[in-house]
Amino acid sequence: MTSVMSFRRHALLPVFLLTAALGTAFGQTRITPPPNKYSPADDVKAGQEASQEAMKQLPMLNDAATEEYVQGIGQRLVAAIPPELQHPEFHYTFRVVNQKDINAFALPGGPMFVNRGMIESAHDEGEIAGVMAHELSHVVLRHGTAQQTKATPYEVGAVAGQILGAIVGGGLGSIIAQGSNFGISTYFMKFSREYESQADIEGSQIMARAGYNPIDMANMFHTLAAQGGSNGPQWLSDHPDPGNREQRIRQEAAALHFNGQGLTNTAEFNSIRSRLAGMSPAYTAEQIAAQNKRGGYNNGNGPVATSGRNNGGRIVQVSAPSGSFRTYQPSQGLRVSVPSNWMQVDAGQNSVTYAPDGAWFTDNSNNSAFTHGVEIGVAQGTGNLQNDTNALLRNLSQSNPQMQQSGKARNDNVAGRNGLTVQLANVSEVTNQPEYISLSTTELNNGSMLYVIGVAPRNEAGTYDSAFKKVRQNLQVSDR
Ligand SMILES: [Zn+2]
Repeated sequence: MTSVMSFRRHALLPVFLLTAALGTAFGQTRITPPPNKYSPADDVKAGQEASQEAMKQLPMLNDAATEEYVQGIGQRLVAAIPPELQHPEFHYTFRVVNQKDINAFALPGGPMFVNRGMIESAHDEGEIAGVMAHELSHVVLRHGTAQQTKATPYEVGAVAGQILGAIVGGGLGSIIAQGSNFGISTYFMKFSREYESQADIEGSQIMARAGYNPIDMANMFHTLAAQGGSNGPQWLSDHPDPGNREQRIRQEAAALHFNGQGLTNTAEFNSIRSRLAGMSPAYTAEQIAAQNKRGGYNNGNGPVATSGRNNGGRIVQVSAPSGSFRTYQPSQGLRVSVPSNWMQVDAGQNSVTYAPDGAWFTDNSNNSAFTHGVEIGVAQGTGNLQNDTNALLRNLSQSNPQMQQSGKARNDNVAGRNGLTVQLANVSEVTNQPEYISLSTTELNNGSMLYVIGVAPRNEAGTYDSAFKKVRQNLQVSDR
């Protein structure tokens, strides 16, 4: 991945210089940012606050490879912002939201969120870059605060609060919680046609300077229009066609003398696409709304780890287990309390799994694995707990060949009865890193065995072990 990145930068350089030079010589449209009574620092403050809100209400994908890929596109575009529109205060960040709906939004001052559904619907990297360049142009032209300037021309007050009020509207939380179909972006910005036209043209110029073909932005509008059911995707209603959109972009591309094919990076695009296809499905707006009713998401504030993949494994970053617990009743007679930032990610006939966001994986053959969380299930038993536990261990070893017992089974409280807990060492098939497993078992009245399997990376075992202990002790089974 590193070599591809540096190769691409070298390849990009001549294109950048060429189009920058031609751009000045020929007739590219000069965009003047609309009047704005706020300072760039106000943009940053409003964007930061809204970004923190978004992080609480949206599930981040937390997949380093995908995130690096999108950041790479974003950084190439940022490097192509014209000098007169550069704001030193702005800080551009790019996050991928694990949401199926085709959408993306950018906040004042730089934070951008791209839905996984947007990446999955694009035909090539240029189309992704097209949406991102359009979003980025709204940011550099400061359309969010300019819109607010128009809305309240005579008021001066608590600036950031005002902007945030207008952008987030106090409705961000409540609307999402109501289970609306509308994306989060509705409540951030709905721009005028004038602003849309500006973002199309500025975006075309940024794309060309970054080495992308501006026509790909027009292509993405086609792709968007072709998807998303009766009303089309949310993105199109948030960014209405200012009229002759495609024609205007082609005109600008011609003025920029962009004749090249433009960056496509097909190999990397395809590899990210198949990577996404191998993950468990992205969340729908309805699922996200339901999770927000249950307290939202705990994505943390830090960026995803950006170091390279280790041993070919994935880098997984999830939030620590919440101190507060939430109770589920996955079946009649079973009550499970898990940290409130864990969700039910899988349920089969004999087992149910709870994991934090970003910790659950399925591959193309529908094999699943989790890196953090618990699986609770029922297995056949003989009435001898030690023998039944050993049988389950042998069974688990078949799908986890590197798994090894560390120390002897000890007596433990499981679901309020006498049970056993065994600690195991494994190597995660997701991350290729050492993994900690705790297996707890107890007999049920009907002769079957209840088990609880806790999984965490070995270097997080301490944090997770106390959560596993609470889960097994608080389990309630009515089998009497
Ligand atoms: Zn727009």
